[in-house]
Order: sequence, then C-alpha cells, then structure tokens
Amino acid sequence: MFKKILVANRGEIALRIIFACRELGIKTVAVYSEADESSLHVRFADQDICIGPARSSESYLNVPAIISAAEITGADAIHPGYGFLSESAYLAEVCEACHIRFIGPDPHVIRLLGDKAKARRAMKKAGVPMLAGSDGPLESEDKALKIAKDIGYPVILKAVAGGGGRGMRIVTAASELPHAFKTAQREAEAAFGVGDVYLEKYLESPRHVEFQILGDHHGNVIHLGERECSIQRRHQKLLEESPSVAVSDKLRRKMGGLVADAARAVQYSNAGTFEFLMDEKGSFYFMEVNTRIQVEHPVTEMVTGIDIVKEQIRIATGERLSFKQSEVTFTGHAIECRVNAEDPFTFVPSPGVIHAFSVPGGPGVRVDTAAHSECTISPHYDSMIAKVIAHGRDRQEAIARMKRTLEMTVVEGIRTTIPLHLRILNEPDFIAGRLNTHFMERYQPKVKAEPLADTA
Ligand code: ADP
Repeated sequence: MFKKILVANRGEIALRIIFACRELGIKTVAVYSEADESSLHVRFADQDICIGPARSSESYLNVPAIISAAEITGADAIHPGYGFLSESAYLAEVCEACHIRFIGPDPHVIRLLGDKAKARRAMKKAGVPMLAGSDGPLESEDKALKIAKDIGYPVILKAVAGGGGRGMRIVTAASELPHAFKTAQREAEAAFGVGDVYLEKYLESPRHVEFQILGDHHGNVIHLGERECSIQRRHQKLLEESPSVAVSDKLRRKMGGLVADAARAVQYSNAGTFEFLMDEKGSFYFMEVNTRIQVEHPVTEMVTGIDIVKEQIRIATGERLSFKQSEVTFTGHAIECRVNAEDPFTFVPSPGVIHAFSVPGGPGVRVDTAAHSECTISPHYDSMIAKVIAHGRDRQEAIARMKRTLEMTVVEGIRTTIPLHLRILNEPDFIAGRLNTHFMERYQPKVKAEPLADTA
C-alpha cells in the first residue's frame, strides 16, 4: 500500500480523496493555489505545498510544480480527482518516468479514449453499440456533407478532443453544414488546441445513461450499474441518480456486461465511466469514456456500498479487485444535486463570502463539500460548492429526503442553484421519471431569482 498520496486537486473532491486516504492509513499532501490557502483540503492534509497563483493554468494545471511537490514531500502516488489534470495522459507519463504512481488508467489508455474519434473506433471494434457517424476526424466539408447525407439529418459535429459539453454543433440541414463545420473546427482549436471534429447522428430526445466500471491490473473488470444524468443545462449535469428508471435488471446486466468486456478489450484499469445516449426504445449508443472519478460517483457508492475512491487506490497499488461481479448488489435509490454558486434563474456565477452555511444531515443524506461559514467562493474555479446526495429505500423516499434537506439548507451571502433543484424535484415529469436531455429547456424559465438573504 502507498505511504503518502499527493492530491492534485481542490475543493470537495480533494477532501473526498483525503477521507479515503485517512481510512486506509495513508498520509496526504495537499497542493493549493494562492487563492486556496485557507481551504479545508489544505487544513486536513498531513502536508501542504503552494504550487502557484490563483489561475489554474499556473497552479492546478502546472505539471512541473505538481511533480516537484510530490518529489519534495516523497509522495509515492498522485490522485488527480476530476477536471484539471485528471485526464492528462502527459501527467500519467511524467509520473511513470518519475516512479510516482498515477491513480488512473495507463497513459496509452487515457490517450486512446481521450480522443473521441479513436475511442469510437476502439469501442465499435469491441462490440459497443454506436450511432451512425464518421469513422474518424472529418478531412473536409465535402466528406462531412456526404456522411451527413448518408445517415440523414439532424447530425451533431463534435470536437475529437471535446469535454465539458463544449465544442458541439447540431446541424439540421445540409445548407447549415458548411458554416457549422468551420465554426466547430475554429471553436475546437480555440478550446482544446486541436481543431479536428467528427460527426454522428443527433438523437432528438435521448436520456444520458452511464455505467461505472472498476478494472484491476490483472484483467478483472466489473460494473457498478448505471447513473441517469439526463438533467443537464448546456450539456452540464445538474442532478444525477442511480438506478435509472429506464433500465431494467435485465438491461443492466446486459449493458454492464458489454461495457466490462469492452473495457477489458482496451486493457482498462482503475475507475472509469462509459457514457451512453439511450433512445425511447431503450437502445444504447456509445458517447465517450471518462477515464477518471466522476462528480456523480456518490450515487453509485450509496446504492452499492462500495467506496470507489478507496478501490481506485487499492487498484493502483496492484491489488486485485476484492469482489466479483456477482457480489455487487444494488440497494435502494440515490439522487445527487450539484449545488452551484450561481443565480438559479440567470446562471450568472455568484462568487463571494458565505456568511452562514448549514446542510442538515439525517437518515440517508450525504454532503460532499469543502464549503463552510466564512469561506470565500473564488471566481477562479468551478462554481460547484456542494453535492447533496440522498439515499432512500426507493426513488420516492430519495426524492423526499432530498427535498427536506434542500429546504432546510442555509447558505447566506451568495446565490445558489438550490431553488432550481427544488423546482425540478417538484415537477410531475421528474417525479414520474419522464426524463430526457431537454428536460431543463422546458422548466428553467419557471424559476425565479431568489433575493439574497444576506449581502452584508
Ligand atoms: P462532453 O465530453 O463535452 O461532455 P459528450 O459527448 O459527453 O460531451 O456529450 C454531452 C451531452 O451532449 C450529452 O449528455 C447529450 O446531452 C448531448 N449529446 C452528445 N451527443 C449527442 C447526440 N449524438 N445526440 C443527442 N445529444 C447528444
């Protein structure tokens, strides 16, 4: 087992990794930017090192500074969390060269799956169902027009290096394609430094359903069921749940088995998520693989009782998975709300000082957060300030627990998306489980901006 892990992240996920390390008896090193000096992840780590100014490009994305911090403190592994460098094959390679274990898949697997066009090809070969589309990056506008004509409009153009819901364009007719193609290439180049785009059929009202997997370095891969993540705004998830009301036990076994086989085919190790779109008929279509822990992993932990972060660490040491697929059981229902420091109506970020912060616990409630009274929400980073997770014997109980928790949550000094979450939880379509990725387009305008409780 590792003796010391450097946590290359901030906020709630850095704390989440520190929890896992403490439970395993592993020492931790926090790295932080000048803006995060008084953060909880710094306070609770055994050691801490400032790695640069507030801008993430100079701190949390600064590979030389992070590697130096690991060298200086004698850390034998780095956990990258999510976001920042979590899907950086480069960091994984540098770690390998420096004899520091990267807690994630091997660099060549990150590189393969990080290129969405290559991932599509590899997964198609492994027998994963796929939407019709181009086999690789589009070389020209003419090629794009030809493929789009063959598969039929609407189609979606996507950046091969895409992520975070950016770099996508829906095209409904041939006349729109030339302009969309150029814009998509330009946007992809600006956002990711790689202008390559590919194309696939656009599904009108799909669900986003993803499978969590764990694989060790001995060829064992298991799945931990699915998460329904259809409640999104601008392709960013707002609320997730497990299981999905649209997935039967039989379908879960079939898809989970298929995903585990596909992961084995590319020698996948550590935690990963296979994202799919699901149509009304229950057919699945591959979207991408995220080669890291995900924000929404707690809902899977709540229904399986498996600590995914501890498993990540055990796997990285070379241990075998300690359980078989047949030993994974699913109990009850879990829902996660991502509480963002944003106006719930306009979504304008609302950074600032939180004067009062209290989230009630109680049966079935888990709160993953690094926020507390008198902490400052910095404008430099992601606006998510807390994840509230509610578990119940069934979906109805999980919804009731989430509602009473959010209703009694106190966050003063900044605006949060809690009123929006309460609105969603009260919608008849949500209660009935009638979800698709356009859910938010219908309901968002009904939410009114909340007056600030305390602006002092
Ligand atoms: P990113 O890596 O940027 O998150 P994804 O490929 O995971 O991008 O897609 C994000 C979201 O975009 C999906 O959850 C879905 O809402 C929408 N989307 C992506 N591809 C399609 C498609 N072919 N048809 C319909 N919606 C899509």
